[in-house]
Amino acid sequence: SVAEGPFITGENIDTSSDLMLAQMLQMEFDREYDAQLRREEKKINGDSKVSISFENYRKVHPYDSDSSEDEVDWQDTRHDPYRADKPTTTPRKGFIGKGKDITTKHDEVVCGRKNTARMENFAPEFQVGDGIGMDLKLSNQVFNALKQHAYSEERRSARLHEKKEHSTAEKAVDPKTRLLLYKMVNAGMLETITGCISTGKESVVFHAYGGKSATEDKVIPPECAIKVFKTTLNEFKNRDKYIKDDYRFKDRFSKLNPRKIIRMWAEKEMHNLTRMQNAGIPCPQVVILKKHVLVMSFIGQDQVPAPKLKDVTLSSEDMKKAYYQILNMMQQLYKECNLVHADLSEYNMLWHDGKVWLIDVSQSVEPTHPHGLEFLFRDCRNVSQFFQKGGVAEALNERELFNAVSGLNITAENEVDFQAEIEALEKMNEDHVQNHGKKLSMFSSDGDPPIYDE
Ligand code: ADP
Ligand code: MN
Repeated sequence: SVAEGPFITGENIDTSSDLMLAQMLQMEFDREYDAQLRREEKKINGDSKVSISFENYRKVHPYDSDSSEDEVDWQDTRHDPYRADKPTTTPRKGFIGKGKDITTKHDEVVCGRKNTARMENFAPEFQVGDGIGMDLKLSNQVFNALKQHAYSEERRSARLHEKKEHSTAEKAVDPKTRLLLYKMVNAGMLETITGCISTGKESVVFHAYGGKSATEDKVIPPECAIKVFKTTLNEFKNRDKYIKDDYRFKDRFSKLNPRKIIRMWAEKEMHNLTRMQNAGIPCPQVVILKKHVLVMSFIGQDQVPAPKLKDVTLSSEDMKKAYYQILNMMQQLYKECNLVHADLSEYNMLWHDGKVWLIDVSQSVEPTHPHGLEFLFRDCRNVSQFFQKGGVAEALNERELFNAVSGLNITAENEVDFQAEIEALEKMNEDHVQNHGKKLSMFSSDGDPPIYDE
């Protein structure tokens, strides 16, 4: 019993993905199966003092557990069990061994094993199964048929992908994500997902009407924004410079697979939003995080998102007001939240209810991040340019703004020298970390801005 909505129910119901339909049916089946088990368990046990349990026989749907098997295929490649120890080559002469132990390059076993190993070169999305410890030998005929199939599949999926890129917003997420969203609606947490607000390089944002919360103490906002972090590898590559050097995530980074790293982006956005919320900075409120999907309150009304600062025309009075508010927020962000936005510009500030709201903080870092101050300087440049162009005479220039936000006192008079001093400070800070470990007083508390002088 789900409310009508174009996304999951209603006439636009998307039945194009057999995989998703199958998964939904499987979920339903598992639920019924588990319920039946519980009934039988109860019947058998009755009032007996000794009871048996069917717990081990319950279906645990892979999408319910975090250890879903689909993650195995992106494990650390340094210890790749699929990689052959050392490729054995057949010398020019075409055979190895002596006498009756001779093996030619046409040897069926050798060939079969080689063919199996060559399956590794098929496109990554082509499932070749797990052949470890099986000593699988593929005949040339089978191998060639598979190879042909792999190529045509690759072309087909490229075509499909292309189509997807141009299709409607609902298809902007993969079946697994849709299943996750479907479950949120099914659980009553969201009433209905109405449609897509934005499709960016790194995320897709949906609008939804909030439903009922499972727990009394948490209220789900009437309108929600759902940010789905894209799980393709290309995008994640551009971002890793932010997270790789973030000491909060340093220990975890090296051990993780890309899928987990994308979840970490969502997690980061959640933590950063929470810090901002606690400092009273206007920003979306976190509702729930599930894997790479972050649900937060919607900034806007009646499905219409608040406009970005770059898209609204403000009176000069409001413009000035917005400027001072941002100056204030940047200081709060730095001093109270110990954060640098790192992508602050008129694109990531919304105008709503007569004030500016900050969004898009998945890439935000602490000021002690090796490039934290450079990010801050870039933010300052964006803000200062926007308001200077927007006619706010009081707007500080980027260097003044940087000092005002950071509390540092860099006196360099030109852009280049200023930048150089910032980098020198970062370097000093890094050395400090190297020499004294991360758990120094400047790092131990979560709320204090860094101390740069020793
Ligand atoms: P991206 O990384 O794609 O820039 P953003 O977090 O900036 O991701 O979201 C993209 C767009 O979606 C924003 O520019 C904004 O228009 C809209 N958006 C995101 N979050 C919200 C929200 N909580 N309320 C309203 N609109 C939002
Ligand atoms: Mn953005």
